[in-house]
Amino acid sequence: MITTGVMKVADYEDAVFYRVACDCTDADHDVTIELEYDKDFNNIYLNFYRKARVWSIYWESSNVFKRIYGRFKSALKILVRGVIEYEDELILSDPEHVRNFISALEIGLEKLSSRYH
Ligand SMILES: [Zn+2]
Repeated sequence: MITTGVMKVADYEDAVFYRVACDCTDADHDVTIELEYDKDFNNIYLNFYRKARVWSIYWESSNVFKRIYGRFKSALKILVRGVIEYEDELILSDPEHVRNFISALEIGLEKLSSRYH
C-alpha cells in the first residue's frame, strides 16, 4: 500500500514508530514519531524526534563575511548561553498527507491503548 508522506518504520510490543515526511521532500525535515507505552508509569507518550538545524538569514546570505559572522554569532550564543533558539518546519500540505498522519496516530494509539489501564 502506498501512502502519502507517512510510513510505519517499526512496530514493537510497547511502541510504534512512524516517519512523517515534509512536503518539500527534504529528508532532513522529516520527523520520527514514537508512540510509546511506558509500563512503569502506565502512560502513553507521543514523542517527536527530528534533526535539529540552526537556520539563520545570515547563513543563507550570498555575502561570505555575513555568513561567517552569523555562524560565529550563533556559536557564541551557544557557548555563552548554552542554548540557541531556532525554528524549522514540517509541512503537511496535502489533505491525504494530513489524514495519513492522523490515521497513524489513531492506529498506534489504538494498539497501545489495550495495554493502558
Ligand atoms: Zn521541508
